[in-house]
Amino acid sequence: MRAFLIVLLLLGGALPALGQTRLDVVSTFSILGDFVAQVGGDRVEGSVIVGPNTDAHTYQPTPVDARRLAAAQVLVSNGLGFEGWLDRLAEASSFKGRRIVASQGASATLDPHCWLDVACARHYVANIAEGLAAAAPANAAYYRARAEDYDRRLAALDAWIRAEIAKVPPDRRKAITGHNSFQYFARAYGVQFEAVRGYNTDSEPTARDVAALIREVRARKIKALFVENLTNPALVEQVARDAGASVGPRLYSDSLSTPDGPAPTYEAMMRYDVTALVAGMMKN
Ligand SMILES: [Zn+2]
Repeated sequence: MRAFLIVLLLLGGALPALGQTRLDVVSTFSILGDFVAQVGGDRVEGSVIVGPNTDAHTYQPTPVDARRLAAAQVLVSNGLGFEGWLDRLAEASSFKGRRIVASQGASATLDPHCWLDVACARHYVANIAEGLAAAAPANAAYYRARAEDYDRRLAALDAWIRAEIAKVPPDRRKAITGHNSFQYFARAYGVQFEAVRGYNTDSEPTARDVAALIREVRARKIKALFVENLTNPALVEQVARDAGASVGPRLYSDSLSTPDGPAPTYEAMMRYDVTALVAGMMKN
């Protein structure tokens, strides 16, 4: 009996302590998947429905998604109308677990892309930490400690973004993007954005809209034109050509890159985007 106990104690170092669980968490898209991984560490088994370089606005759920969600304990979504397909999928899968709406309680009034303001992302992370803690109380202290660490890094990221944007003279802080995803970023960091498309990726601008944008780009001498990793670049390229500008590197707004790309995490995505934006706006 005593030998048995000693074996158990020795094994205890390698095994999770009693009551600790590895939560099965499904996130709707890659950026939330990263937040869950940062908070959940090795006490979360995370997966995402809409993966890297894929558009959550227009996503069509599959039977595989429904099966995966049926087995999940927690579902993390953005809310704010971003995942229009989610309620049907949750119903089809008879999902019975805990739902975390990451944007809940955020001062989000513009459109779904609240995560592009780091203050809003920090709010998401706090909601995710509390939701995971409620789903697995034995892990609560672990999740909260990791969320605090991550929050400190996000605070540093926010300060870095402000310092980078400050390098651009105020009258040059303007850029064109493929769809209207940067309005929270604009409000938080003092950059003016115009977009070829609306808040969704599926709306098509009229020829008159495009002509008006070309006139504006010319009149305001905007050289910082960008497409996002998900948006068809043709319209932005047309605007750039007709206005005598060129298109900068692809920005990541609604999705991370694959692990070997430049934006495999939220922090890397924001640093990459801000570096590209600042370089582009310096040419305005
Ligand atoms: Zn979007």
